[in-house]
Amino acid sequence: MSYLVLARKYRPRGFDAMVGQEHVVQALANALTQQRLHHAYLFTGTRGVGKTTVSRILAKSLNCTGPDGSGGITASPCGVCDACRDIDAGRFVDYVELDAASNRGVEEISQLLDQAVYKPVLGRFKVYMIDEVHMLSTTAFNAMLKTLEEPPEYLKFVLATTDPQKVPPTVLSRCLQFNLRPMAPQTVQEHLARVLGEEGIASEPGALRLLARAARGSMRDALSLTDQAIAFGGGALAEAGVRQMLGAVDRSHAVRILEALAAGDGAGLVAAVDALRALGLSAAGTLEELATLLQQMAVLQAVPEAGDTDDPDAPTVARLAGLLPADETQLVYSIALHGRAELALAPDEYSGLVMVLLRALAFRPAGGPAARAPDTAATAAARPRPAPSTVTSAPSRPTLAAAAAAAPAPAALRVEAPEPPPWLDAPDELAAADEAAAIAAPPAVPAPLASPTVNATPLGDRWNALVRRMVEANTIGALVRELALQAQCIGVEQSVWTLRVERETLRSAANVDKLQEALGAALGAPVRLVVEAGAVDDSPARREAAERARRQAEAEQIIHDDPLVRALLAQYKTARIVPGSVKPH
Ligand SMILES: [Zn+2]
Repeated sequence: MSYLVLARKYRPRGFDAMVGQEHVVQALANALTQQRLHHAYLFTGTRGVGKTTVSRILAKSLNCTGPDGSGGITASPCGVCDACRDIDAGRFVDYVELDAASNRGVEEISQLLDQAVYKPVLGRFKVYMIDEVHMLSTTAFNAMLKTLEEPPEYLKFVLATTDPQKVPPTVLSRCLQFNLRPMAPQTVQEHLARVLGEEGIASEPGALRLLARAARGSMRDALSLTDQAIAFGGGALAEAGVRQMLGAVDRSHAVRILEALAAGDGAGLVAAVDALRALGLSAAGTLEELATLLQQMAVLQAVPEAGDTDDPDAPTVARLAGLLPADETQLVYSIALHGRAELALAPDEYSGLVMVLLRALAFRPAGGPAARAPDTAATAAARPRPAPSTVTSAPSRPTLAAAAAAAPAPAALRVEAPEPPPWLDAPDELAAADEAAAIAAPPAVPAPLASPTVNATPLGDRWNALVRRMVEANTIGALVRELALQAQCIGVEQSVWTLRVERETLRSAANVDKLQEALGAALGAPVRLVVEAGAVDDSPARREAAERARRQAEAEQIIHDDPLVRALLAQYKTARIVPGSVKPH
């Protein structure tokens, strides 16, 4: 007998078997039971969360005839009638799956739409499933829109996308939208335990925890990794083997590193990295393990009763949580994530790792046992200073801490403002690092943008234009760029430019120095820059945020006023406009 891979064997065949998507399943099952059918559905969510699976179950629900051939539309397809079996096997003539990522041309989609005028051959409904629909060309979208506007009653569209922002609002507004969430590691782990139980394969809980985490919210990936791990482990799943396969690092190394950090023990950190190098363990894996531990510590520090009693590491996490203050835990977490993205740039991964850990040590706020030079730019950035006066540029000291402050890790900003400002687009590698963080913390629903007030002045216009120019010319780095974006220009007298910022941490001497230099270059003449602290009501960042809020409100109004959306909201009690899902085009 051929071996069927787990991901295919355990692909859910009915809504009741869908794991971790209860909110979507419930809404769809209710609609089917009450025969309230919409003609177009849009499933959004990252890869491997079950978009195609839900689509197939929906197609079966619509076309199932029951074991005796007399069944109708149902929320629990029988799985044995011709329609159910053919859809499962991918050979049902009235169910077409089209991958827009490989069929971008208007040709394929228009061929498909040409077929739409013919009634279904075997089933009650034709179901067209277009995966990665955001990849369609504009022409293809327009061709589809015509059919979406006046669909024949036997035709259902299922659109799926990992990137709903790229789907035109005209199409979005005609679909009932469901957002499939990435699955929590705990949910994945429980499912793996169930599957392996059915397969009769022995497994250690630690092995499953590692696999669940590595899957990053995708059940499909979790099952594929489990397949690999079974092959790797010769039929059994031991934690050590899975760790080796995933390149994950034994937790004891991460624990030792955190203990050294808490004790301010630089020599201990270097020794820990030497040990990792000697064992050939991955530096990236170490930082991932560190981030996971720090995340668990942070949860425990914020919600002491939230400890996972099943976790054999719980006492260790609790002990570490007591060693590091909550704000430092956040800081080190952020440095570990950003450091992971920088590893590829380091001469070799271990020296990269040493630098990341020393940075964590150097960034520690003043007062802790690790404070080396409490007056450096880095420590000043980590703790807001009281009673600020005007800071002008001064030569920065060549210390390790100052070097760390100049590196692209705005970790200190994270401590004060946990949400990154909306106008700051994170570079790709930082986004990748944040994605890595999603193992531990699933992404939150973005909060609606607040609309800041802007009192535009001619001086503000001038500053705004200059900052745009410097940003476009790429003459300023991330931290300096933020200073420029957050600053209001309040005066220019001859060659002296006076700026004002609200956030004290932005006014570090090193930042001011660099901005002064870039500004001089942009103006073609040397300038002196004075940056004071105070309230700001016209900065490039505020202008940008206000403009975004205005466009967002406009887009939401268009969707809200759409007659079809209004009709849907009235008709479907479970339907609602997903907060944050409306995006200006
Ligand atoms: Zn059936």
